[in-house]
Amino acid sequence: MKAHNSEVGVFVRVRPTANFAQDLIECLPDGQTVNICHRKTSRKPRDSNKSQLSSWSFQVEGVLQDVSQEEFYNQVCRRVVLGALDGYNGSVMCFGQTGAGKTYTMTGSTESYKQRGVIPRALQEVFQEVEKRTEHAFTVHLSYLEIYNETLVDLLPSLRGTQHPSPRGMVVTEEPGRGVFIRGLSLHPVHSEEEALNLLFEGEMNRIIGSHALNRNSSRSHCIFTVHIESRSRTLSDSKYITSKLNLVDLAGSERLRKTGSEGQMLKEAVYINKSLSFLEQAILALADRRRDHVPFRQSKLTHALKDSLGGNCNTVLVANIYGEAARIEETLSTLRFAGRMKCLRADPAVNEHMDPAAMIKKLQKDVQTLKEELSLCNTLVNRPSLTCEPLSDAQLAEIHSHIRRYLEGSLDEISIISIRQVQAAFAQFKLAVQEQEQKVKAQLCQTYNLVKKDQSANTTAVKEWDTRGSAEDGEAVSFGVPPQSLKNSQRPSSVKAKTKKPSDKQSQSKRLGEGSPVPRKRLESASKSKVNSVQTPERESQEPDTESQDTQESQPPGNEPLHPDSARAKEEAFEDFKVGQGSQINRIFKENKTVLLERRSLLRQLTEEVNTVKRDIDCTMATIQQHKEIREGQGQYLVVEGEPLLLEPDAPLLMQLRELKALYRQRYEVLRDIKAEVNYCQHLVDQCRLRLLSEFENWYKKFFLVPEEELDITMEKTLEQDDGAEERLAPGSPSAESFYNTHHRTQKRIFLCQQRNSRAQRNSSGQRRPPIPPVT
Ligand code: ADP
Ligand code: MG
Repeated sequence: MKAHNSEVGVFVRVRPTANFAQDLIECLPDGQTVNICHRKTSRKPRDSNKSQLSSWSFQVEGVLQDVSQEEFYNQVCRRVVLGALDGYNGSVMCFGQTGAGKTYTMTGSTESYKQRGVIPRALQEVFQEVEKRTEHAFTVHLSYLEIYNETLVDLLPSLRGTQHPSPRGMVVTEEPGRGVFIRGLSLHPVHSEEEALNLLFEGEMNRIIGSHALNRNSSRSHCIFTVHIESRSRTLSDSKYITSKLNLVDLAGSERLRKTGSEGQMLKEAVYINKSLSFLEQAILALADRRRDHVPFRQSKLTHALKDSLGGNCNTVLVANIYGEAARIEETLSTLRFAGRMKCLRADPAVNEHMDPAAMIKKLQKDVQTLKEELSLCNTLVNRPSLTCEPLSDAQLAEIHSHIRRYLEGSLDEISIISIRQVQAAFAQFKLAVQEQEQKVKAQLCQTYNLVKKDQSANTTAVKEWDTRGSAEDGEAVSFGVPPQSLKNSQRPSSVKAKTKKPSDKQSQSKRLGEGSPVPRKRLESASKSKVNSVQTPERESQEPDTESQDTQESQPPGNEPLHPDSARAKEEAFEDFKVGQGSQINRIFKENKTVLLERRSLLRQLTEEVNTVKRDIDCTMATIQQHKEIREGQGQYLVVEGEPLLLEPDAPLLMQLRELKALYRQRYEVLRDIKAEVNYCQHLVDQCRLRLLSEFENWYKKFFLVPEEELDITMEKTLEQDDGAEERLAPGSPSAESFYNTHHRTQKRIFLCQQRNSRAQRNSSGQRRPPIPPVT
């Protein structure tokens, strides 16, 4: 037997009669076919003798004639009842003419136990199954609804423990997950067949029995006896449960008003009944038509209340109760036609499965408890302290904090993990540590940056002092990028260098210059060499007397080492006279060139300091980057700067600063190089002017004081020696300086003698012509 079917079952039950119209009604042996042969007589008086013979054949699922109540139940209803126990909604509806046996079929006769109907048998079946299916816990409730003249009536309202009926009366309601239900209809829990039967009989007593000409006991209302079943698995501890409704419907009899001659209240009842049955037919036809979206369930209380019990996911059985007598053939034909239309109704039964939130919570709580117990057992087995699910205490958090700090500091090699909560707390501490480290690094960067500024200013001061000292002492060059002491030592004579040279300093300097520097070492060395040469210009400056001293020195007559004191003093006086007199123009030009030279030297010194400062900034920045690198290597990769992980671009701001400094260095160095060239050229002009001043003075002096040529030669040499202090200051032990001095002396001597000859020639020819003066730029 099928528990559920995809097709609505339509059965025909023939009320037993001794006068069965065999010539009109034929039940074929296949048990599924009913043939009706009916001669319809005309109602018109003049056509009363005319008749038309018609025949119909109705195919249904089963034609039940002279079957017992037991056979009928087993053949028609049992599968629906069993389906309800499995979670499928089920409906058994009896319809037909009044007195055709609907109530007999559904409720049965109270005269004998054997004649009990579908409802008592279904109740018996339900409780027998409940006892059989021990793996499920069933809950059974009963309700008994009557629809009388479109009014909902609770047939079990006065029983103990029932809900009070709604003051607004009962209402057919739909709710998601619950389907259609009658709000206000009492549901009665029953635990046994006996309790259920008592309710059934109680309801029967309350039915409204109208007096009717055809059958005094025939109901004038639709009655829906519903068995509400809820089933929960006893073996599976899940939160799923199933529900079902078994609707056992005893429809009111279809009336033929013309035939019964009802009037008054009876007529009104008949109209309501026929109307509701018509709506039921319309609803079923709409359900059968898959193309229709809307089914008019709400047209009547009956269809609305049976909405989820007609087709759909419900096992539905329709029983057409018919008379067997010829006198009821028209009613029988009408009922069979109705049955034929019901056949097209399709059903797609489905289990009503639900999730119980309360049961789900209960299940989860039970699972948690079980897991706790298992965890406790595991901890006991491995001798671990038992864990609680409570939040960590302050003391525990402090301990975790201490472990994390020690781990980060390196005093703790590993952190023993004993719980997820501890892991979470540890990660929180790590995060905190990272944030603190970030702040710390930022502070370090700021501090380092400030220190770099201070160092720069300090170094600059030191270079200034060193520069000054160097200029005052021996005119040694200043080289940017190299500590003054190192450079100073490297420029000293080898004997001195050996005493003061510190290899460690040189190594550290080499390390600072070479290691970690993005600037190629070759370029740095080249730059340093260039700077050494460039700062030789200020070195020369020290050789040039300043301002008054210059004038004083330059105003010294060439014969500062007089052969004869008197003649020397006379020559000095003569030189002063010459500068304001005969040689005033060349002297002015000499002073102008000297002024330009001093300005350029000053600018060169300033640029040198700037380049040195930039180079020191580069060195400090590189050192800071190196320091950060060492910090990171010592502390791991936790640091972040400006929200960017150092892992990706550490010290990005410093690298940016380094790039800018290098660009500035190159730019200032190029300016420095140009200024240096200009200073060299100005120095050359000054030298030229000095020679011309001296030579013209000599010429003038000889002319007026008639000094012999031999003396002039000696005087010239003395003058040059005194006037060009650079040659004297060259290192005596230096071969290159000696050769330079000799070459320079010979050149100056040739120039001097040439000028002497020219001077004599001019004096002999015109006596007043002056030598050409080179342009001063
Ligand atoms: P309905 O409810 O359709 O108006 P009932 O069920 O009250 O009709 O039946 C009317 C009478 O016919 C009742 O007295 C009932 O006992 C009797 N009856 C109907 N069907 C049968 C049947 N199959 N076997 C025996 N008696 C029946
Ligand atoms: Mg009845």
